[in-house]
Amino acid sequence: MIGVSCYSLFFRGAIVVRVWLLVSMCICLAGSFGVYSTFGDTSKLSEEERGRGRLVELRAEIARHDDLYYRKAAPEISDADYDALKRELHRLEELYPDLQDGLLIVDEIGDDRSGVRGEFRHFAPMLSLEKAYTEEALLSFYDRVLSQLTFEELDCLVEPKVDGMAISVLYERGEFVRAVSRGNGRVGEDVSENVLRIEGLPRRLETESPPERVELRGEVYVSFEGFRRLNEARVAAGEEPFAHPRSLAAGSLKLDDPEVVSERSLSIVFFGYGAFEPVEEAPETQSGFYGLAQSWGIPVLEELRKTRGTEALLAAVREMEERRVLYPFPMDGAVVKIDRADVQRELGLGTSAPRWAMAYKFAEKRVETRLLGIRIQVGRTGLLTPVAELEEIRLGGSSIRRASLHNGGVIERMDLRIGDVVYLERAGEVIPNVVGVNLAKRKSSSTKYVFPDLCPSCGYAAELDEGRVERYCRSSTCPAQAQRKIEHFASSRAVGIEGIGPAKIADLMDAGLVETVADLYLLEVPDLVQAGVGSEAVARKLVSEISGSRAASLWRVLFGLGIPEVGVSRSKKLAAAYGDLAAFARASALDFSPGGRAAEVGFGPVAREAVLAYLSLDENRELIGRLVELGLGARSEVMDTRSEVAGTIFVFTGALEGLSRKEAMALVEAAGAETRSAVSSACDFLVVGKEPGAKLQKARELGVEVIGLEKFRRLLGL
Ligand SMILES: [Zn+2]
Repeated sequence: MIGVSCYSLFFRGAIVVRVWLLVSMCICLAGSFGVYSTFGDTSKLSEEERGRGRLVELRAEIARHDDLYYRKAAPEISDADYDALKRELHRLEELYPDLQDGLLIVDEIGDDRSGVRGEFRHFAPMLSLEKAYTEEALLSFYDRVLSQLTFEELDCLVEPKVDGMAISVLYERGEFVRAVSRGNGRVGEDVSENVLRIEGLPRRLETESPPERVELRGEVYVSFEGFRRLNEARVAAGEEPFAHPRSLAAGSLKLDDPEVVSERSLSIVFFGYGAFEPVEEAPETQSGFYGLAQSWGIPVLEELRKTRGTEALLAAVREMEERRVLYPFPMDGAVVKIDRADVQRELGLGTSAPRWAMAYKFAEKRVETRLLGIRIQVGRTGLLTPVAELEEIRLGGSSIRRASLHNGGVIERMDLRIGDVVYLERAGEVIPNVVGVNLAKRKSSSTKYVFPDLCPSCGYAAELDEGRVERYCRSSTCPAQAQRKIEHFASSRAVGIEGIGPAKIADLMDAGLVETVADLYLLEVPDLVQAGVGSEAVARKLVSEISGSRAASLWRVLFGLGIPEVGVSRSKKLAAAYGDLAAFARASALDFSPGGRAAEVGFGPVAREAVLAYLSLDENRELIGRLVELGLGARSEVMDTRSEVAGTIFVFTGALEGLSRKEAMALVEAAGAETRSAVSSACDFLVVGKEPGAKLQKARELGVEVIGLEKFRRLLGL
């Protein structure tokens, strides 16, 4: 087992490999001296021998989890479990300090480098934070600082701890130079191209007198709203949803395609700095840093609390924990920093963390519940996804009965069995995740779960994919796939037909009225009433909604078709290249070669082949032909794909200063975007003027971004 792991990690050539080799060497050596043997009889070992053996084991295990977390952005265990391993290790290291002699120290910070990107040394080390799990531990940190420096009291700054991916952004003389991942804390990886795609990060600091050099330290993260939207789109596209906003943020920064990064709704926020030159100009306090960075146009943390004394400190931390669910981004604790920079410098840095800051981690939300069954869902692409049916349980303020198990590999790895008591975590407050099995509560009669090899919807053989992890139903007449395709087409990310969800689509299919999306446009009011979708009024509204969606922009129709590899941004490019759906239907390989109609879209071979393969199938060409006849995809508005807002939808409320409503709408259209009169979940922005109406409330409820006139002008490049 250990030998195999060494081998598979070997070519990544990084620190973890070193640790693994040393650990396995150490086990061999120790074994030959009879101290600890992985194969020997352990029942006769003394407590000390077991402790020493466990210590070596723990280091190897932590190194493996570090590799999964930092380098592959695919953690297998929760933060709480990981931290528990770390605590156990530290306890043992204190007991057996002789084993702590340099050679075997697992890098505290981990290492996120993949070895395929350019590497840069940080000017100032990029460290981790020491963590406190109890209020006592937090207070003892504060007391330690006071007694060490003989202060009566000191100001502390309490900040929310954003759960994302750490980033260091270097500016020299006010100009963006590069963005580097934490790496091993000394050397990180260049992720500039991807970070520059994040909205709100200036290429130039807004100041006349920038420092010679400043390394801004912060976090790239995905808001819950962005996470939810993205996962909805992925599920609709038959893809596996992301498990946690943090792994989404970390994974996105490692992508090779900045176009895809743009679609990942990444945000960035800063809360400190590394190098600052000349150092005399560095802010005198942590709170001073925030004021300075804000004046430079740098996005910084909000909701900070300045405290003095232990009571105020505890109150601030408790308040933050109580308000945890209200934050729009994942946060897993509060960070307490000594405010004064001179005191920070005096305290200095430890090997892996500064001595002037402490992260107070909130308790994880984890519960136990019973796995009642496993339901297999069939996605739009035929992907079979297992879903856990759970005994209803409250977690993080809502009741949960279902959780995605992602794929058969996950079930196998956990050896999940029906009837098991499982651990459920609410990862990032959004998606409940089954993270393990309580084996102590397993019934002896339980049997291993066997993943079905037939599609539950059509009974067709479900084949394993090349990676032998996912199973797909490849039937072209699978009813479940047909339904998912219609759901995707009608979704707000595509043509946006309001009032038609999975249940109504199922009714219409069961009644034999609808087989493909084109059939939707032939529906009449009596059909709908007969199919049981609702009253005549409901049916009338639905027919008018469906009819209205004929006017959707071409890119929305193209995206709605669900062509593999073609997401929102590629749909927009195709729409700009072809102008209408009929022209797209005639697309050929020649179009993509130099001088061709679609030469400018810049697709790689995979996306290009996916488009052509899609168009080569009779059933797809027939569907597009029908949609063209029905008048879809005919909107040939000039799409300026360079505009940041092309393809988005704006709604206005209230009076806009110095701009009539008509002028504002014309500006939106000129930028390749659309306007609507009412707020719906399909809208992207609500522009708020003086005395806004009820639309504002509605937009907030639906999570539509609310912007002022200033941001509106900026978005449109005015
Ligand atoms: Zn099927």
